[in-house]
Amino acid sequence: MDEHGEHTARVWVADELRFLLPPRHRHGEAMVPVDGVSSAGHLIESLGVPRTEIGELRVAGQPAEFSTRPRAGDLIEVFPVRRPQPVPEYRFILDVHLGALARQMRLLGLDTAYSNDAEDPEIVAQANREGRVVLTQDRGILRRRALRAGAYVRGSSAADQLADVLDRFDPPLAPWTRCLTCNGSLVKVDKQDVSHLLEPGTLRAYTEFSRCAACGQVYWRGAHADRLQELVAQATRRQG
Ligand SMILES: [Zn+2]
Repeated sequence: MDEHGEHTARVWVADELRFLLPPRHRHGEAMVPVDGVSSAGHLIESLGVPRTEIGELRVAGQPAEFSTRPRAGDLIEVFPVRRPQPVPEYRFILDVHLGALARQMRLLGLDTAYSNDAEDPEIVAQANREGRVVLTQDRGILRRRALRAGAYVRGSSAADQLADVLDRFDPPLAPWTRCLTCNGSLVKVDKQDVSHLLEPGTLRAYTEFSRCAACGQVYWRGAHADRLQELVAQATRRQG
Protein backbone atom coordinates (compact mmCIF):
# COMPACT_ATOMS: atom_id res chain seq x y z
CA MET A 1 0.00 0.00 0.00
CA ASP A 2 1.20 3.44 -0.87
CA GLU A 3 1.50 5.70 2.15
CA HIS A 4 1.82 8.87 0.05
CA GLY A 5 -1.73 8.94 -1.17
CA GLU A 6 -1.31 8.01 -4.83
CA HIS A 7 -3.48 4.95 -4.43
CA THR A 8 -5.01 5.50 -1.02
CA ALA A 9 -7.65 7.55 0.69
CA ARG A 10 -7.62 8.59 4.34
CA VAL A 11 -10.47 7.63 6.65
CA TRP A 12 -11.25 9.60 9.79
CA VAL A 13 -13.76 7.95 12.14
CA ALA A 14 -15.55 9.81 14.96
CA ASP A 15 -14.62 8.81 18.53
CA GLU A 16 -17.97 7.09 19.18
CA LEU A 17 -17.29 4.56 16.41
CA ARG A 18 -13.58 3.93 16.94
CA PHE A 19 -14.12 0.84 19.09
CA LEU A 20 -15.30 -0.89 15.90
CA LEU A 21 -11.95 -0.35 14.16
CA PRO A 22 -9.00 -2.73 14.39
CA PRO A 23 -6.72 -1.55 17.27
CA ARG A 24 -4.03 -0.24 14.88
CA HIS A 25 -6.53 2.23 13.38
CA ARG A 26 -8.07 3.51 16.62
CA HIS A 27 -5.86 6.59 16.78
CA GLY A 28 -5.58 9.13 14.00
CA GLU A 29 -6.61 8.18 10.47
CA ALA A 30 -6.68 4.92 8.58
CA MET A 31 -5.37 4.57 5.02
CA VAL A 32 -7.43 2.50 2.63
CA PRO A 33 -6.55 1.48 -0.93
CA VAL A 34 -8.84 3.05 -3.53
CA ASP A 35 -9.39 1.66 -7.01
CA GLY A 36 -11.94 4.15 -8.36
CA VAL A 37 -14.61 1.45 -8.21
CA SER A 38 -15.11 0.74 -4.50
CA SER A 39 -17.80 2.80 -2.79
CA ALA A 40 -17.22 4.77 0.40
CA GLY A 41 -19.68 2.42 2.16
CA HIS A 42 -17.65 -0.60 1.14
CA LEU A 43 -14.33 0.97 2.18
CA ILE A 44 -15.64 1.90 5.62
CA GLU A 45 -17.27 -1.49 6.11
CA SER A 46 -13.96 -3.13 5.27
CA LEU A 47 -12.51 -1.30 8.30
CA GLY A 48 -15.17 -2.91 10.52
CA VAL A 49 -17.75 -0.12 10.82
CA PRO A 50 -21.22 -1.32 9.74
CA ARG A 51 -23.33 1.07 7.65
CA THR A 52 -26.08 0.92 10.26
CA GLU A 53 -23.80 2.84 12.65
CA ILE A 54 -23.03 5.67 10.27
CA GLY A 55 -25.00 8.91 10.25
CA GLU A 56 -23.23 11.57 8.23
CA LEU A 57 -20.52 10.79 5.71
CA ARG A 58 -18.23 13.28 4.00
CA VAL A 59 -15.78 12.71 1.17
CA ALA A 60 -13.26 15.45 0.34
CA GLY A 61 -15.21 17.84 2.56
CA GLN A 62 -18.55 17.27 0.80
CA PRO A 63 -21.62 15.41 2.09
CA ALA A 64 -21.50 11.95 0.49
CA GLU A 65 -23.54 8.77 0.06
CA PHE A 66 -22.45 5.20 0.72
CA SER A 67 -22.32 4.81 -3.07
CA THR A 68 -19.87 7.72 -3.54
CA ARG A 69 -16.55 6.52 -4.99
CA PRO A 70 -13.63 8.19 -3.25
CA ARG A 71 -10.53 9.06 -5.22
CA ALA A 72 -6.89 8.80 -4.24
CA GLY A 73 -5.94 11.45 -1.72
CA ASP A 74 -9.54 12.03 -0.54
CA LEU A 75 -10.37 12.29 3.14
CA ILE A 76 -13.41 10.22 4.12
CA GLU A 77 -15.06 11.41 7.35
CA VAL A 78 -17.41 9.09 9.22
CA PHE A 79 -19.91 10.29 11.86
CA PRO A 80 -22.22 8.19 14.04
CA VAL A 81 -25.99 7.87 13.75
CA ARG A 82 -27.65 10.71 15.70
CA ARG A 83 -29.48 9.70 18.86
CA PRO A 84 -32.32 9.19 19.41
CA GLN A 85 -32.58 7.51 16.01
CA PRO A 86 -36.11 7.64 14.59
CA VAL A 87 -37.53 4.33 13.33
CA PRO A 88 -40.86 3.73 11.55
CA GLU A 89 -41.98 1.36 14.32
CA TYR A 90 -40.54 0.51 17.71
CA ARG A 91 -40.35 -3.20 16.97
CA PHE A 92 -37.17 -5.18 17.37
CA ILE A 93 -35.64 -8.58 16.70
CA LEU A 94 -32.55 -9.79 18.54
CA ASP A 95 -29.94 -12.22 17.37
CA VAL A 96 -29.36 -15.51 19.15
CA HIS A 97 -26.71 -14.13 21.53
CA LEU A 98 -28.93 -11.49 23.13
CA GLY A 99 -31.45 -13.62 25.07
CA ALA A 100 -30.95 -11.81 28.38
CA LEU A 101 -31.48 -8.44 26.70
CA ALA A 102 -34.65 -9.78 25.02
CA ARG A 103 -36.21 -10.59 28.43
CA GLN A 104 -35.34 -7.16 29.81
CA MET A 105 -36.80 -5.40 26.77
CA ARG A 106 -40.00 -7.44 27.04
CA LEU A 107 -40.25 -6.58 30.73
CA LEU A 108 -40.34 -2.93 29.65
CA GLY A 109 -43.07 -3.73 27.13
CA LEU A 110 -40.92 -3.41 24.01
CA ASP A 111 -42.05 -5.59 21.10
CA THR A 112 -39.03 -7.90 20.94
CA ALA A 113 -38.82 -10.98 18.74
CA TYR A 114 -36.16 -13.50 19.74
CA SER A 115 -35.39 -17.12 19.08
CA ASN A 116 -32.31 -18.90 20.40
CA ASP A 117 -31.84 -20.98 17.24
CA ALA A 118 -32.64 -18.58 14.36
CA GLU A 119 -30.13 -18.41 11.51
CA ASP A 120 -28.98 -14.98 10.34
CA PRO A 121 -30.97 -15.04 7.04
CA GLU A 122 -34.16 -15.97 8.94
CA ILE A 123 -33.63 -13.08 11.38
CA VAL A 124 -33.22 -10.59 8.52
CA ALA A 125 -36.23 -11.99 6.65
CA GLN A 126 -38.47 -11.79 9.73
CA ALA A 127 -37.23 -8.26 10.48
CA ASN A 128 -38.13 -7.08 6.97
CA ARG A 129 -41.48 -8.88 6.97
CA GLU A 130 -42.55 -7.48 10.33
CA GLY A 131 -40.87 -4.07 10.17
CA ARG A 132 -38.41 -4.81 12.98
CA VAL A 133 -34.98 -3.38 13.72
CA VAL A 134 -32.31 -6.10 14.05
CA LEU A 135 -30.26 -5.67 17.22
CA THR A 136 -26.99 -7.57 17.29
CA GLN A 137 -23.33 -7.65 18.24
CA ASP A 138 -22.56 -9.66 15.13
CA ARG A 139 -21.36 -7.42 12.32
CA GLY A 140 -21.95 -10.23 9.82
CA ILE A 141 -25.73 -9.75 10.10
CA LEU A 142 -25.40 -5.99 9.71
CA ARG A 143 -23.44 -6.48 6.47
CA ARG A 144 -26.26 -8.49 4.84
CA ARG A 145 -27.57 -6.75 1.73
CA ALA A 146 -31.20 -7.63 2.47
CA LEU A 147 -31.09 -5.90 5.88
CA ARG A 148 -33.26 -2.76 6.05
CA ALA A 149 -32.83 -1.64 9.66
CA GLY A 150 -30.29 -2.74 12.22
CA ALA A 151 -28.10 -1.57 15.04
CA TYR A 152 -24.91 -2.74 16.71
CA VAL A 153 -25.63 -3.00 20.44
CA ARG A 154 -22.93 -1.64 22.78
CA GLY A 155 -22.16 -3.23 26.12
CA SER A 156 -21.33 -6.68 27.44
CA SER A 157 -23.89 -6.98 30.26
CA ALA A 158 -27.62 -7.04 29.51
CA ALA A 159 -28.03 -3.90 31.68
CA ASP A 160 -25.48 -1.97 29.61
CA GLN A 161 -27.02 -3.27 26.39
CA LEU A 162 -30.47 -2.17 27.51
CA ALA A 163 -29.17 1.29 28.40
CA ASP A 164 -27.66 1.54 24.92
CA VAL A 165 -30.92 0.50 23.19
CA LEU A 166 -32.97 2.99 25.25
CA ASP A 167 -30.45 5.74 24.56
CA ARG A 168 -30.30 5.01 20.82
CA PHE A 169 -34.04 4.71 20.07
CA ASP A 170 -35.79 6.31 23.05
CA PRO A 171 -38.76 3.95 22.56
CA PRO A 172 -42.04 4.40 24.45
CA LEU A 173 -42.15 1.96 27.39
CA ALA A 174 -45.09 -0.03 28.74
CA PRO A 175 -43.74 -2.16 31.62
CA TRP A 176 -45.51 -5.41 32.52
CA THR A 177 -47.49 -5.69 29.26
CA ARG A 178 -45.50 -8.41 27.48
CA CYS A 179 -44.72 -12.05 28.08
CA LEU A 180 -41.02 -12.49 28.94
CA THR A 181 -41.02 -15.95 27.37
CA CYS A 182 -42.75 -15.43 24.02
CA ASN A 183 -43.30 -11.65 23.53
CA GLY A 184 -47.11 -12.12 23.54
CA SER A 185 -49.39 -9.45 25.04
CA LEU A 186 -50.44 -9.79 28.69
CA VAL A 187 -54.12 -9.54 29.49
CA LYS A 188 -55.36 -8.83 33.02
CA VAL A 189 -57.27 -11.75 34.49
CA ASP A 190 -59.33 -12.31 37.63
CA LYS A 191 -57.69 -14.31 40.35
CA GLN A 192 -60.35 -17.02 40.28
CA ASP A 193 -59.77 -17.61 36.56
CA VAL A 194 -56.17 -18.66 37.13
CA SER A 195 -56.36 -20.02 40.66
CA HIS A 196 -56.23 -23.62 39.43
CA LEU A 197 -52.84 -22.89 37.84
CA LEU A 198 -51.17 -21.39 40.90
CA GLU A 199 -49.62 -22.46 44.17
CA PRO A 200 -51.67 -21.59 47.26
CA GLY A 201 -48.83 -19.37 48.54
CA THR A 202 -48.88 -17.32 45.35
CA LEU A 203 -52.65 -16.91 45.55
CA ARG A 204 -52.39 -15.66 49.11
CA ALA A 205 -49.54 -13.25 48.44
CA TYR A 206 -50.66 -11.50 45.25
CA THR A 207 -53.78 -9.78 43.98
CA GLU A 208 -52.97 -8.64 40.43
CA PHE A 209 -52.66 -11.32 37.78
CA SER A 210 -52.26 -11.33 34.02
CA ARG A 211 -51.95 -13.99 31.44
CA CYS A 212 -50.11 -14.16 28.10
CA ALA A 213 -52.65 -14.16 25.27
CA ALA A 214 -50.24 -16.20 23.13
CA CYS A 215 -48.75 -18.91 25.36
CA GLY A 216 -50.98 -18.83 28.46
CA GLN A 217 -48.20 -18.12 30.96
CA VAL A 218 -49.57 -16.51 34.12
CA TYR A 219 -47.84 -13.47 35.66
CA TRP A 220 -48.35 -11.69 38.94
CA ARG A 221 -47.04 -8.27 39.87
CA GLY A 222 -44.31 -8.49 42.46
CA ALA A 223 -43.35 -12.00 41.45
CA HIS A 224 -40.19 -10.84 39.81
CA ALA A 225 -37.10 -10.16 41.81
CA ASP A 226 -36.40 -6.66 43.11
CA ARG A 227 -33.72 -6.49 40.44
CA LEU A 228 -36.41 -6.45 37.75
CA GLN A 229 -38.49 -3.86 39.60
CA GLU A 230 -35.37 -1.74 39.82
CA LEU A 231 -34.75 -2.18 36.10
CA VAL A 232 -38.20 -0.83 35.30
CA ALA A 233 -37.70 2.04 37.74
CA GLN A 234 -34.32 2.92 36.19
CA ALA A 235 -35.57 2.78 32.63
CA THR A 236 -38.68 4.84 33.31
CA ARG A 237 -36.60 7.38 35.25
CA ARG A 238 -34.33 7.78 32.21
CA GLN A 239 -37.33 8.67 30.13
CA GLY A 240 -38.86 10.75 32.91
ZN1 LIG B 1 -46.23 -15.94 26.28
